[in-house]
Amino acid sequence: MILNKLSNLKENKQPLELLEIPVPEPKVKEVLIKISACGVCHTELDEIEGRTPPPRLPVVLGHQVVGRIVETGPKANQYNTGQRVGIAWINSACGNCMFCRSGEENLCEQFKATGRDADGGYAQYTKVLEDFVYKIPDIFSDAQAAPLLCAGAIGYRSLRLTGLKDGQSLGLTGFGASAHLVIKMVAHRFPNVNVYVFARNPNERDFAKELGAVWAGHPEKGSPEKLDSIIDTTPAWKPVVEALKNLKSGGRLVINAIRKEEADKDYLLQIDYPRHLWLEKEIKSVANVARQDVSEFLQRSFRAGNLE
Ligand SMILES: [Zn+2]
Ligand SMILES: [Zn+2]
Repeated sequence: MILNKLSNLKENKQPLELLEIPVPEPKVKEVLIKISACGVCHTELDEIEGRTPPPRLPVVLGHQVVGRIVETGPKANQYNTGQRVGIAWINSACGNCMFCRSGEENLCEQFKATGRDADGGYAQYTKVLEDFVYKIPDIFSDAQAAPLLCAGAIGYRSLRLTGLKDGQSLGLTGFGASAHLVIKMVAHRFPNVNVYVFARNPNERDFAKELGAVWAGHPEKGSPEKLDSIIDTTPAWKPVVEALKNLKSGGRLVINAIRKEEADKDYLLQIDYPRHLWLEKEIKSVANVARQDVSEFLQRSFRAGNLE
């Protein structure tokens, strides 16, 4: 399935075209993968609508790819055919710059994303450098593993960037795929952390409580106590402004969104410095994922054995 042109999803309900394209040929150090599952992510809407546009069109979207290796290119020798592997958002990076050398390849200037800068997983076959695939633990089915590769890995990175310690408190604004996985990860890694969830939808709030949130409320409602850190996974600005009010002094808000939508940008004018930022509150964005985020998260979730 290909994206041929950028469009507004309100006007164009079918932005992707089903098309027959040749099976890619794996080149040096690449592997060819027969895809069995590919997750769907909000970032694809950002690509289609041009907030993070693919540099060339047409392109095959999809960056939570699970499948089996069917062919290995020259000098690709880390995997055998038949092995089940996954591909995440990081498709390649230069390998030489300061960021790449220090494990921060997610910040590399030549960072290439799966399903944006290179063809991704909404297809029967795809190819990728073997250094950028991950073994999928057996306990997960293909469909269970796919969302771990983006929502899970980026949630893992976001949680790492909060600097959260056991015994502290964490807020989550928005309760989609990434937040579901974060709340489970927190329960496993930080059993004494209280999680507070801000969501507009009452069903999501109920679900958050089922998954162990001590409190769940509307984003405009203040949390019952001030929080050490908050992860925002919404595409909007209002939850960011509201979240800052709920942070403790020195608290940190991590924004896990590749782009924010413009619709409610005016809400930023409501920022009142003493109330929202004073006393060393911080805002940090989370950009992409590094390979270490993906592999560590897969290993941890395998050990926890309880992530969906
Ligand atoms: Zn994604
Ligand atoms: Zn680099």
